[in-house]
Amino acid sequence: MTLKKIHEVLDGCCPDQKVQVRGWIYRKREGKDLIFLVLRDSTGIIQCTVKKTSPAWSEAQKLTIESSLSLEGTAREDKRAPGGYEISAENINIIGLAETFPIGKDKSEEFIRDMRHLWLRSRKMNLVMKVRDQVFESAREYFKSQYYTEVSPPMFISAAVEGGSTLFGLKYFDQQLYLTQSSQLYLEILMYSLEKVYCIAPSFRAEKSRTIRHLTEYWHMEGEWPFADMTDLMKFEEDLMTHICQSIGEKCEKEFAELGADINKLKTVKAPFPRITYKEAIERLKPKNPTLDWGTDLGYEDEKVLAEEFGKPFFVYDYPTEIKAFYCKTYSDHPEIAMSVDMMVPRIGEISTGGAREDNKDILIQRMKAQGLNPEDYEWYLDLRRYGTVPHVGFGMGVERLIVWMLDLDNIIDAISFPRTTRRFYP
Ligand code: ATP
Ligand code: MG
Repeated sequence: MTLKKIHEVLDGCCPDQKVQVRGWIYRKREGKDLIFLVLRDSTGIIQCTVKKTSPAWSEAQKLTIESSLSLEGTAREDKRAPGGYEISAENINIIGLAETFPIGKDKSEEFIRDMRHLWLRSRKMNLVMKVRDQVFESAREYFKSQYYTEVSPPMFISAAVEGGSTLFGLKYFDQQLYLTQSSQLYLEILMYSLEKVYCIAPSFRAEKSRTIRHLTEYWHMEGEWPFADMTDLMKFEEDLMTHICQSIGEKCEKEFAELGADINKLKTVKAPFPRITYKEAIERLKPKNPTLDWGTDLGYEDEKVLAEEFGKPFFVYDYPTEIKAFYCKTYSDHPEIAMSVDMMVPRIGEISTGGAREDNKDILIQRMKAQGLNPEDYEWYLDLRRYGTVPHVGFGMGVERLIVWMLDLDNIIDAISFPRTTRRFYP
């Protein structure tokens, strides 16, 4: 008798052999002479049958949904069984008999969200979390292959990065601190030591709007590096995105198939991506949205319309300076235009923002003042321009936005195990 994971049995490791599997009861159907159990472990689900004549019968009768157990039986190929294999049980050892499981077929979406701690056991969440794991791994793989060093910036910070409106303040002993909105400024510090740096870390935004693409706590994949310009930046971002999509396309076939998501969308992602300027974007959108003029930020609806036209990832670059953060570098002959670029994808719109950072100390101070920021709060940031300033670029991509797009999920809350939104923070 050998202990097997369910996927091994489904892959045909041991037809007509005795196996032991361990897991939880996913479904149960009881007939007069036969009980059907669907057992789940981390790797999949498998149908098990228990005959009335089997020594496992009385234990099988007691089993409830989500009870944990160890089951021994004979693996058999059976075309009728979901997955093509089933186990006819000969022995069942109940480990933890479950009380009546609160999540059933008829429960509302709202109820399921309240039961997140239990819903994470569902096939859907199990598969999404596995794809997410692979996204992290593939991203790291690409950064590493390009000689980037992974760093760990702080989450408690003393000054805003992305402006006050989405900043979470908190009492830190007897001082006022904030939760970081982006690790960019810290990556800029570290870049002077390590050159190419990146991190995948939480960012916090006090977003009041309830949309399918906003969380209050999300995972932010950010990179920063010196001696580089906008062309280098877009090339890196599209190569990174291509690598992640190709790698998921290769490694997550099963997960996509079970989730009913289209993996070909990822397989066709290849650099270079189309790129248009903000000015061209406005011209394209104007007939559909006459209120859109040069200087207005693109809204979610505008981004979606653009993205529908492209049908794949693309870039919009060269945004108006006035709608960009103080650190965005501007063109010396066109100070009204900032070297900023967003990557967009269908249905979700923006998934990353990047750009060249202002490397001139005096211009940086002017920009801070123009945005009502106090340069004294950013002394350390100004030091980076005082001592060996260098042209540099960086970007930040929302990991959950990437996953929502890849898997075509209805809402960003399903791209993360424990979503934080205005209303949700339990457990
Ligand atoms: P938006 O305009 O969509 O709110 P943003 O431009 O404010 O986004 P950035 O500051 O550019 O966001 O952040 C970089 C990336 O982080 C975004 O492109 C997006 O992928 C992700 N991101 C930003 N805010 C959130 C959020 N609240 N929830 C999830 N991901 C986010
Ligand atoms: Mg942005």
